[in-house]
Amino acid sequence: MNVLFVASEMAPFAKTGGLADVVAALPAYLHRAGHDVRVVLPLYDKVDTSKATFTAILEFPVDLGAHRYGCKIFRTDVGGGFPIYFVHCPALYARGSLYTSEGDEHRRFLCLQFAALMIATKLGFSPDVVHCHDWQASLIPMILKTLAKSDPVFARSRSLLTIHNLMYQGSFPVGIGPDTNLGSVAHLFHQDLMRAGRVNFLLQGILYADGVSTVSPTYAKEIQGEKYGGGLDGYLRARSTTVVGILNGVDYGEWSPDHDKHLAHHYNPFDLSGKERDKEHLLTSLGLPYHPNVPVLGVVSRLVGQKGFKLFDPVMFELLRKHGFQLVVLGSGEPGLEAMFATLQRQFPRQVCFYNGFKNDLAHMIEAGADMFVMPSVYEPCGLNQLYSLRYGTVPIVHKTGGLADTVTQWNPRSGDGTGFAFEHHDEAGLRWAIEAALATYKQPKHWHRLMQNGMAQDFSWDAQGKLYELVYGRLVAAGRH
Ligand code: ADP
Repeated sequence: MNVLFVASEMAPFAKTGGLADVVAALPAYLHRAGHDVRVVLPLYDKVDTSKATFTAILEFPVDLGAHRYGCKIFRTDVGGGFPIYFVHCPALYARGSLYTSEGDEHRRFLCLQFAALMIATKLGFSPDVVHCHDWQASLIPMILKTLAKSDPVFARSRSLLTIHNLMYQGSFPVGIGPDTNLGSVAHLFHQDLMRAGRVNFLLQGILYADGVSTVSPTYAKEIQGEKYGGGLDGYLRARSTTVVGILNGVDYGEWSPDHDKHLAHHYNPFDLSGKERDKEHLLTSLGLPYHPNVPVLGVVSRLVGQKGFKLFDPVMFELLRKHGFQLVVLGSGEPGLEAMFATLQRQFPRQVCFYNGFKNDLAHMIEAGADMFVMPSVYEPCGLNQLYSLRYGTVPIVHKTGGLADTVTQWNPRSGDGTGFAFEHHDEAGLRWAIEAALATYKQPKHWHRLMQNGMAQDFSWDAQGKLYELVYGRLVAAGRH
């Protein structure tokens, strides 16, 4: 199959979260499986162009209503594999960050979408599936059914919209309408919403994509209910037969303790001695004392409301005092949460280290060096860090929601089954219970060893998950023939 990916992030070029990991690993899987897959991304000024050879291949303007943007397209091939096309348009993408709250945010990603389709047309690349990721690519299904309908390149193209996080919807004032170039088919925009003065890009994708997917089976169900539906649950329910949940896979080439290039010591399920030395290395490099029997809890996360760290105040303060464990936190985000972690560090200088920032090598070191990994997310579409934790023998402590519920099973000391600790209710008592249960189990080395082994034996590779996407693509293409 010919597959065109359109997305706003791809590791290692541009990353703020899990989307980037998926857009790197899934095309790589599809390429290995013999498909002709190509990815289109913005060339943000943050992209490190020294990581690969960038070749200019096309140049064209993109018109968005009354605005004209000169775009130059650069192609690069990662590891001799599939092509990535970068849309170079400094007027839109030289902003110092991937996302902004500026007045032209909608145009930044409309330009990406129109440029992606123009690249396909100009290269004569006829996609069987256009795989659109999040609101930044979610008008493409509608464009394919309208403006691009008579373009022979897209004659057999079907669209799949993958929602990585339903809470980011691309909702704009209706006044941006002319910039979408879709004025002639304005009746296809959600009319009640327009009357209320808004245009919602993600909703348009949900309405017009041939298929809709999200990144775990539980989240696929959750977003069809009011609690997690972000106001779009009714539309998702209406299309429930086309909404599927496919867990993200892990790129074990990058994330595996037996060959992780960011680790000082390697280890595997049969010889865990390297993990203990990674723990010592992690703590000493962060200026914390190392004691072999004191458990270390790790956190690597965007510090935003979704991730549930509000519960840490007061639970983490109490438990650090009561149990004397250590906590290593890597993340940045909302000032209130950053301040809370800074306070934790100040109050417990020998127990807590808060590294405020985004640092990939430290993320790997925490996965290896910590004993437990905490993810108290309010909701979590899939979550990658718990999957990394499992592979690194770092026991996840999670709120039972979305992808966390699908990938972490509660430890059962009687049967010896389970891979972590999962609390059901997102409240202080839930988090306290889960951390204390983990700490108690840590004191029983035989049980703890079994728990680590159970986690390390899990397989969330893309070889399994990629096949599920191939099935979805196949179904979409077959349905298009009728
Ligand atoms: P989300 O996409 O909601 O941020 P995921 O768990 O799906 O959450 O993916 C997060 C990804 O981003 C993981 O690869 C994680 O290691 C990485 N990450 C998050 N915060 C940081 C940080 N501060 N430094 C380095 N990597 C980070």
